[in-house]
Amino acid sequence: MSTMTTPTAARGGSWLLDETDPSAVFTPEKISDEHRLMAQTTDEFVDNEVLPQLEALEEKNWDLARSIVRRCGELGLLGINVPEQYGGIELDKVSSLIVSEHIARAASFGATFGAQANLCILPIFLFGTPEQKRKYLPKLLTGEMVGAYALSESGSGSDALGAKARATKQPDGSWVLNGEKMWITNGGFADVIIVFAKVDGEHFTAFIVEKAFPGVSSGKEEHKMGLHGSSTTPIILQDAKVPADNVLGEIGKGHKVALNTLNFGRFKLGAMSAGGCKSAIGDAAKYAAARKQFGQAIASFGAIKHKLGEMTARTYAVESLMYRTGGLIDASLAATPHDPDDGSAVAKAVEEFVVEASIAKVAGSEALNYVLDENVQIHGGNGYVKDYPAERFYRDARVNRIFEGTNEINRMLIPGMLIRKALKGDLPLIAAAKKLQDELLTPSAPSIGFGDGGRLEEETKAVAAFKKVVLMVLGTAMQTYGQKLTDEQEVLSYIADIVIDTYAAESAVLRAKDAGATRLKDLHDDAVRVFVNDAAQRVEMAARSALAAMSEGDTLRTLLAALRRTLKVTPVNTVAPRRRLAEATTAKGGYIFS
Ligand SMILES: Cc1cc2nc3c(=O)[nH]c(=O)nc-3n(C[C@H](O)[C@H](O)[C@H](O)COP(=O)(O)OP(=O)(O)OC[C@H]3O[C@@H](n4cnc5c(N)ncnc54)[C@H](O)[C@@H]3O)c2cc1C
Repeated sequence: MSTMTTPTAARGGSWLLDETDPSAVFTPEKISDEHRLMAQTTDEFVDNEVLPQLEALEEKNWDLARSIVRRCGELGLLGINVPEQYGGIELDKVSSLIVSEHIARAASFGATFGAQANLCILPIFLFGTPEQKRKYLPKLLTGEMVGAYALSESGSGSDALGAKARATKQPDGSWVLNGEKMWITNGGFADVIIVFAKVDGEHFTAFIVEKAFPGVSSGKEEHKMGLHGSSTTPIILQDAKVPADNVLGEIGKGHKVALNTLNFGRFKLGAMSAGGCKSAIGDAAKYAAARKQFGQAIASFGAIKHKLGEMTARTYAVESLMYRTGGLIDASLAATPHDPDDGSAVAKAVEEFVVEASIAKVAGSEALNYVLDENVQIHGGNGYVKDYPAERFYRDARVNRIFEGTNEINRMLIPGMLIRKALKGDLPLIAAAKKLQDELLTPSAPSIGFGDGGRLEEETKAVAAFKKVVLMVLGTAMQTYGQKLTDEQEVLSYIADIVIDTYAAESAVLRAKDAGATRLKDLHDDAVRVFVNDAAQRVEMAARSALAAMSEGDTLRTLLAALRRTLKVTPVNTVAPRRRLAEATTAKGGYIFS
């Protein structure tokens, strides 16, 4: 734990081993005028053109959905990451986070938008040939064509590479596809679908399939728990005829297209979740201020303040890690000279942050579920009926933990990808874990942690300790199980939870330190204090459970003693900071850090 990194030098996962300079971290407080304009454009679009149409969308008026997609195209929202030569506006990744975050206030349309921009336009930009890009991108970017992404099948969701759909090459070089894709967003009205099928039942490959091709049709709309204003159908391929030129990427390399697309999607789903949290906090704060019981606004009760304070602290942490990651990707792209038309360079830069993308997906979707559940609770009976939006928000959000890789699968990916980076020599994790183990297993080892002698010193020490806990538990797991660690999903999940809390806590601390001179400085500190204090308890619990799962007797006792020496975090009074956060939220009628 020595070197100081800036985003230009950063590699995915390196934050775990290095200290980061707060001034080098991208935070929501650093957004530019251009970013602000993007947020305002998206907000106005959602307020004026999407939310008023929600009922008609929920009645499955797909002509309307298409016209709203076209409006997105006119406003430039579909082409944030695509070069101008194809009709995009090519802004940085932070801009695309901002659009995702703000569009999420209309969750159903957010799904339509995500399938178009992230799951169809992006893979064509990342992996398409120049001809494919010229043919499809301009029409997808204006919204003249609607896109979809068909990976899942009824028998293969998480196990996406187990797909049964087949592609057979014809003597003229064209392809015939057979199979049925399941739960496809925009399935009812998409024109262009990225379809995954196995060539000769073996080589997993991506194809650009037009709905107008013979043999392609969509099945019935699914009756879903939420997102009623978004289309979800099977896509049926019955001897579907696909031209030779419509293979996307290489034959047998469909997994690269699928995984890189999902990687982007996860990162943006994190942003959408942050947007959903902020919107629900506004809903909850206004209701709590207006609703009176026992002669006073329910916002004045400690139990409700606890909820509003906690909703704010969790959202703060997710927002901090999202923007930090966006800044890391932008810095990495800026530091790597590349042709803007070279999608593979962009895919590589994002792939570097695969761990952070999974963290964003899991942390974002789970914070959102928490916030929306508490929003229902703050609304009481009114939270359970359709007259208020709280119940729809709650239903709409549940799927975020399921699609773009379930949270269980993403939890496996987090330690899995860290270990892979370590074994490839990209991250000196194994040496760091070994060094730490030698230190920790010396009974006289001094307690660990460092302070900056200033603001948030305890929280800074706590984050340093969390990082040591990651190394300790991950190192012990690798030693204990070796190659068989992949079979120990419970232990991997505990490790993922510790990594998630560590990245979230560090991102929040760095952001608050950097916001030291701002008007809201004290509230930044309150959010950090609440989040880090609770994260310390979660990290300790997960570490104890993981260590107990892999050792016993004297070994376990020694490891637990080392854990106690490492994670010496004194609990703080979180009631007062939560109350301050809640009172500021109620006074503003919304999320205080926007
Ligand atoms: C509204 C909606 C929209 C969707 N849109 C699209 C779309 O546009 N395109 C598309 O291709 N797909 C889409 N999907 C499908 C979605 O991606 C899948 O539902 C998801 O990947 C999970 O797959 P599954 O449903 O088969 O669940 P399963 O894979 O059967 O999983 C069931 C449970 O088992 C767990 N599990 C599975 N495997 C493992 C494992 N190895 N280790 C530990 N736990 C495991 C899962 O985490 C989950 O909890 C959509 C789904 C919904 C509901």
